[in-house]
Amino acid sequence: MSITARRICPAAIGLALLIFARTAAAEDIELPETAPLPQARETALKRVNENAKPSKAAGALSAVERQCRQALRELGAGFAEAPAVEAQGGCHLPHPIEVTALSRNMRLEPAAVLNCTTALAAARFFQTSGMSAARKHLGARITVVQQASAYVCRQRNGNDTISEHAFGNALDVSGVTLSDGRQIAVREVAGSTAEAKFLNYLHEAACGPFLTVLGPGSDPDHADHFHFDMKKRRNPFCQ
Ligand SMILES: [Zn+2]
Repeated sequence: MSITARRICPAAIGLALLIFARTAAAEDIELPETAPLPQARETALKRVNENAKPSKAAGALSAVERQCRQALRELGAGFAEAPAVEAQGGCHLPHPIEVTALSRNMRLEPAAVLNCTTALAAARFFQTSGMSAARKHLGARITVVQQASAYVCRQRNGNDTISEHAFGNALDVSGVTLSDGRQIAVREVAGSTAEAKFLNYLHEAACGPFLTVLGPGSDPDHADHFHFDMKKRRNPFCQ
């Protein structure tokens, strides 16, 4: 090796290292969408995407789940598939849907994450009993059903039993909006006003379509909403 070559070599290596370091730093900070991804980032993104997929427990939809969705579509309900839930504490919802409407003309607000069975029971109930009670007692259509709680990972108030909400199997309804703009809040209404008749009818008619029904008069926790759930029982539990 010549003297000149010996002198150049360390300088060339230093320059190469500097260029490499600058390039690596630039890639760490920002990358245009079209640029090829460095290996590490590509791997990291792949991992994120894999984690975002429904959990393995979710698997493919069963025939029952597919039929339920078909029934919801036929009723004109608005919904989309939501990521599966497998949380600590026993919360479990392998095939959730996010429901935005219970019919073509009746929104559910805010959007609710539920299992399909509960969503279907709600769509059927409000399209039939809910709508006919609103027409009969209030002379209007229901345009919005307000929900106060759907899927939520929590224990039932007052004891250690896990709530049906933790399975997406329950829907709390706090009120409805009517086609004439009136707002009816779920509450204890004394007397025999049209509003009282409407709310009392909903409370009673829900027993059967839903397997658990609680509401004003059941206990203080349910003074301002109906709790409807689809917990499997031999006979509906309604209070
Ligand atoms: Zn509830």
